[in-house]
Amino acid sequence: MSGEKWVYEYEHGSAEMKGLLGGKGANLAQMWNIGLPVPPGFIITTEACKAYWVDPRGLMDSVWPQVSDAVARLEERTGKVFGGERNPLLVSVRSGAPVSMPGMMDTILNLGLNETTVKALAEASGDERFAWDSYRRFIQMFSDVVLGLEIGEFEFLLSRAKGEQGCSYDHQLTADSLKKLVGQYLRLVESKGISFPTDPWDQLRSAVEAVFKSWNTPRAVTYRNIHKIPDDLGTAVCVVSMVYGNLGEDCGTGVCFTRDPSTGEKRLYGEFLVNAQGEDVVAGIRTPRPISDLKDAMPEVYSELVRLTDLLERHYRDMQDIEFTVERGKLYLLQTRNGKRTAKAAVKVAVDMVREGLISQEEAVKRVTPDQVEQLLHPQLDPSLKFDVLAKGLPASPGAAVGKVVFDADEAERMGKNGEDVILVRPETTPDDIHGLFAARGILTSHGGMTSHAAVVARGLGKPCVSGCEALDIDLAKGVMRVGGKEIRRHEVITIDGSRGLVAYGALPLVQPSFTEDFRELLSFADRVSKLEVWANADTPEDAERARGFGAKGIGLCRTEHMFMQADRLPVMQEMVASTDRDERLEALGKLKVMQKEDFVGIFKAMEGLPVTVRLLDPPLHEFLPKVPEMTERLEELIAQGKGDSPEACKIRVLIQRAESLKEANPMLGFRGCRLGIIYPEIYEMQVEAIFEAVVELMRQGVEVYPDIMMPLVGTYEEMRRLREMVDRMAQRFEAELGRKIPYMVGTMIEVPRAALIAGDLAKEAEFFSFGTNDLTQTTFGYSRDDAEGKFLAEYVRMHILGDNPFHVLDRSGVGRLLEIAVSEGRAQREDIQIGICGEHGGNPKSIAFCHRLGLKYVSCSPFRVPVARLAAAHAAM
Ligand code: ADP
Ligand code: MG
Ligand code: MG
Repeated sequence: MSGEKWVYEYEHGSAEMKGLLGGKGANLAQMWNIGLPVPPGFIITTEACKAYWVDPRGLMDSVWPQVSDAVARLEERTGKVFGGERNPLLVSVRSGAPVSMPGMMDTILNLGLNETTVKALAEASGDERFAWDSYRRFIQMFSDVVLGLEIGEFEFLLSRAKGEQGCSYDHQLTADSLKKLVGQYLRLVESKGISFPTDPWDQLRSAVEAVFKSWNTPRAVTYRNIHKIPDDLGTAVCVVSMVYGNLGEDCGTGVCFTRDPSTGEKRLYGEFLVNAQGEDVVAGIRTPRPISDLKDAMPEVYSELVRLTDLLERHYRDMQDIEFTVERGKLYLLQTRNGKRTAKAAVKVAVDMVREGLISQEEAVKRVTPDQVEQLLHPQLDPSLKFDVLAKGLPASPGAAVGKVVFDADEAERMGKNGEDVILVRPETTPDDIHGLFAARGILTSHGGMTSHAAVVARGLGKPCVSGCEALDIDLAKGVMRVGGKEIRRHEVITIDGSRGLVAYGALPLVQPSFTEDFRELLSFADRVSKLEVWANADTPEDAERARGFGAKGIGLCRTEHMFMQADRLPVMQEMVASTDRDERLEALGKLKVMQKEDFVGIFKAMEGLPVTVRLLDPPLHEFLPKVPEMTERLEELIAQGKGDSPEACKIRVLIQRAESLKEANPMLGFRGCRLGIIYPEIYEMQVEAIFEAVVELMRQGVEVYPDIMMPLVGTYEEMRRLREMVDRMAQRFEAELGRKIPYMVGTMIEVPRAALIAGDLAKEAEFFSFGTNDLTQTTFGYSRDDAEGKFLAEYVRMHILGDNPFHVLDRSGVGRLLEIAVSEGRAQREDIQIGICGEHGGNPKSIAFCHRLGLKYVSCSPFRVPVARLAAAHAAM
């Protein structure tokens, strides 16, 4: 262990060393090295943290000589002395992981204070109040973080002190009040049987250990679980000499972003407090002032801040989130990192930075995740909707949410897990509420600003949040909140609009958001990068249009049965199903054909110039009949009314009989798909005729149409051969009529394992394959999708028997293996065979990555997922 370098001074660090120095440390070093005003400090590595878990004593003994050397250098640099009786050096001891986990671990400020140094600090600064304020903050933080004492008891003493002095804010407490308070704090610690360490070196050593340990606090562990951050990274410890924002009116502290993290707009955005220290801004104790006010409060500091933050953004070529402190008019930077942002801001910043020449199109695509695109498609309040505003707060994280009011994070978690929509309402949130924030639909706080804990976490999670809604009077004990003379109890429903900072009583209707120009542009960058095309599953002209609007390059699955489910068609369909002989059936089919043709005309038109894959009838026929018990009930009703011989009753009897005869033990594996088309050829013939009639009509009008006719559930070569023959035979007739070739293709879905295994044979007849991975997953695993999810699949995932739910994420080793076989054998037989995927998986980023690897032509997913899939396809190619 000895001989290892555990401690780095800024000179030996850089932004690239996040793994070793943590994000905070690496960026402090980088800022120092490019000459920015950073208070001197040093960093203890994440390696030390990891070694600490194995052998705490051994590690501390090995690290300590290096720490004391580094402190000596700090003393030289600052001209102050650690524990000194004249000009004492105070430090902050800060956690900083390789991956940003804002507020999740601990930091202690003003370390190095005791009875002696506090007096020295008062003398050196000429400000007694300041010295005692720093001391009481230090005791409070140290007691919380290192000694693990209840912070509430300190808060109680603090508010009592304010009461006694008759003031409402911490910074109004006089030196005498603070002195008294410090005495009370120390006695409180003593009353717990703990003696507060007075030697600064002891303080430092315990604080460093506390930071190492804070990696494993429950809230940090929860945060890592939610954000899928590995547990073995460890945290670095930054020891930074203190600069003071609480030395008076020409001092202050703040947080700012180089662009608006909510909208992405390019302007300095943030908050500050005059005469305050670090934590005050984020803790939501006083509601801070917008950064634009700093322009008037401290004009020179403001322009320096603009200059430096701009420099930082250009240096990192990304939006920065910066912490700063002003000590007697001098600006210090205490932290910079790539700023967390909403999905909307991520898109705008990425596209703007391409325009500004800061990053490439590819880089822009990389910076937006498919998850964020998904958030952009989240519901919002209709901007033109008029409603009564119950209260107004800050628009802390965009989007709207409706849910039951819950005042407690544990309860929010419980209800959220039960699938209930809740809005977590708190005076302010702390890192200990993280599980509740995660489970809630939205967050509402009465205190805190745009950079408060609730706001930052909500933006990270993509949840709507309204913060600093001061009009709310939240009574946690009674479980009610009062606002504008109204009392809202726990579990009453409210709506919040995080885009505008509004709260309303009851459930307001939400609408889908529309695309911005920036978003379109980003997706067009994505299309340039990707190899996969994105198509959509659409059954109606409206869906087709929407899909096209979202950028779909074709329809990968048009399910014709949905056309039969509509109210005006179902009776005709039932007639068809109930018919006992071919003539009756043909008559019903004739009526259906007229309707189908109309649908196809609409869809082909909407997709002019692009391929449309039409799947012939797939579900078992009994699905079109009403349920037998329902029909029986109605029949009994009719009989009771003496209408047992009415035409309706006769019809119901026929339908019941037919339903009984169609009943199957395993309908999913039964008489469905192309099996129907083989046994009742007239059904498929009608559908193919409808397709070609539509095609001919449109081609005559000069519309470009590319119909791909797809056979469901094929499992044998003979099925494929016969069905193809049928289509070709009919096509010849229509081509003769039209006097031109029709650019159609015939192909099959691959959705039973046997089809994948004989793909080479099928490809002799099929010109395209489309993987129907919903059925293929069912049939490969032998899991019924309709039953398995609720019964055992979730448990299986929890028990790690399955890595993911295979109906959500394509199972690469099993189902994926079948895909591989089908791709390679299909291509060996027919070189230019067109292959895509049309199961649910077509919209899932992990599955899309796999499809990219297989070299498929396209993925097809629901219209709303098309944008997500376009971005995921690009990411797969990078
Ligand atoms: P977090 O990771 O939770 O943001 P930080 O380590 O950044 O914790 O510190 C918390 C607050 O204390 C921040 O506002 C930071 O700017 C402030 N702070 C940290 N170190 C110093 C210092 N040496 N001097 C003044 N303020 C500091
Ligand atoms: Mg910080
Ligand atoms: Mg299927």
